[in-house]
Amino acid sequence: MIDNKPHQLILYFYTLDSLRARIGWIVNLRWIAVLGLLSAAPVAQIVFQFDLAFSQIYAIAAILIFLNLIYFFLYKFFPFKNFSQEFAFTEIQIIIDYVILSFLVHFTGGIGNTFFYFYIVHIIISGILFQGRLPYVNAFLAVFLLTLWSLLEHFNFVATYHLTTTPVSFKVLVVSLCAFYLLVFTTTYVITDFINLYRGLKRIIDEKSSLLEKTINDRDRIFRFTAHELKSPLTTLRSMLAVIEEVYSEKLEPEVKDMIHRAVRRTDQVLMMVKDMIDVTQYRQGISQKMIEPTDFTDWIHKIVERQRAYAEDKKIELIFDSSISDIKVPLDCTAMEKVLANLVNNAIRYTPKGGKVTVRPFVKSTVYGFVVSDTGMGICHEDMAKIFEEFYRSKTAREMEQLGTGLGLCLVKQIVETFGGKIYVESEIGKGSTFTIEMPKILPEED
Ligand code: ADP
Repeated sequence: MIDNKPHQLILYFYTLDSLRARIGWIVNLRWIAVLGLLSAAPVAQIVFQFDLAFSQIYAIAAILIFLNLIYFFLYKFFPFKNFSQEFAFTEIQIIIDYVILSFLVHFTGGIGNTFFYFYIVHIIISGILFQGRLPYVNAFLAVFLLTLWSLLEHFNFVATYHLTTTPVSFKVLVVSLCAFYLLVFTTTYVITDFINLYRGLKRIIDEKSSLLEKTINDRDRIFRFTAHELKSPLTTLRSMLAVIEEVYSEKLEPEVKDMIHRAVRRTDQVLMMVKDMIDVTQYRQGISQKMIEPTDFTDWIHKIVERQRAYAEDKKIELIFDSSISDIKVPLDCTAMEKVLANLVNNAIRYTPKGGKVTVRPFVKSTVYGFVVSDTGMGICHEDMAKIFEEFYRSKTAREMEQLGTGLGLCLVKQIVETFGGKIYVESEIGKGSTFTIEMPKILPEED
C-alpha cells in the first residue's frame, strides 16, 4: 500500500548538536580572549607603561576564567534538552560578556581605546545564532553600554583612565560613538540579512532532500509491491515449464525443447531478480528483522563456501578456503550475512574464467570481523568501480562474459553491510582479478 499522507516537515536551521558545537566554539573563543588579555596587560603595563587600572584588568581576567570554566562544565556535562534552553544559555553568556567588556573598555581607556570595537564579535555571533529582533537587541545593548560609560567618564561620574595624555574631547567622543553606532547596526543588518538568505536556502535544500527521500521510499514500496505480485505467477510458470521439460521431453520437437529450455533460463533470471528486489527493498526500508546470535565464524563461513563448490568445479575454478582462525564466535545475522558472502563468492566464480582461482579468507580482529573474497578473474575497470553497487548495473564485460545476472547482487550486499554498520572495500585490476573485503563491527550500531 502506498502512503499518500502529506509529508510533515520540521526543519531546523541548527540541529541541537550543531548548535551545541557553536556554543563550544564561543567558549573556546573566550579562552583565546582571556589569553590575549593576559598577554596584552603586562605589555601595556611594563613595556608601554600605560597608566591604566591594571589590578582591575587582572581581576576581570580572573572573573572571565571563572565564568568560562562554569560555561565549559555546563556545556560539556549538562547538555540542555532543547533549543530554547541552549539559546537562553548563549544569550546569557553574550549579555554577561557585554557587561564585562564594558568594564574592561572603561579600565583600559574608554572611548580613547579602539578595543571597544570588540563588541562587534558578539554582534556577529548573535547575528549568526539568533533570528528575529534579538541580534538588534544585542546591538542596542552594546551601543547603550558604550554610550553610558563614555558619558559617565566624560562628565566625571566615574574615574577615567587614558591611553593618551590628552583626554578625548566631546566632539571626538560624539564622532567615535556615531561611527560605532553605524558600524554596529550595519554589521547587524548585513549579518542577519545574509543568514536569513542562507536559512532560506537551507530550508529549500532540506525540503528537496526530504522529498527525494520520500520519493525513493515510495519507489521502493512500488518496487516491493510489484516484485511480490510477480513472484507467485513466476514461480507457477517456472514449475509448469519444469514439468513440460521433464515429463513431455520425449514428445517435443528439438526446436520446441530448446525454446522451453531458454524460457526456463529466462524465467529463472526474472525470478532471481524479483527475489533480489524484494531483499534489497526489505533491507533498505528496514523491514527485515535482525536476528543476531553468537555464531562460530569459521564453521559458518566454511559451510557457505562449500555450497558454492559444485558451481566452482563445474566452471573448473579452484575454490580455496584460507582460514587461520578457529573456534571464534562473532555476533552474526546468519541469513543476512549468508546473502552477502554467497553473492560475493558467486560473483567471483562467475566473473573468473576457467582455470582461475577464488579465495575466501575470514578474519577476526579486536573490534571487527569479516572476510576477504578475492579472485583472479576479469577485474573491474576504474569507471565501473563507482557504479557496481547501483541497482541493475552490469558492466559491458560482465554482460558479455555471463548472460545471467540481475545487477542487484552487490546493491543487496552493500545494503545489508550498511544496515549492520559494516564497511565494504573493493580493489581490482583489469585482467588480474578483484578483491572484496567485508568488515563488520563486533558491536552493533544502535537502532534509530
Ligand atoms: P550481477 O552479477 O548480477 O551482474 P552484481 O550486482 O552482483 O550483479 O554485480 C554488479 C556488477 O559488478 C557486475 O555486473 C560486474 O560488472 C561487477 N562485478 C561484481 N563482482 C565482480 C567480480 N568478482 N569481478 C569482476 N566484476 C565484478
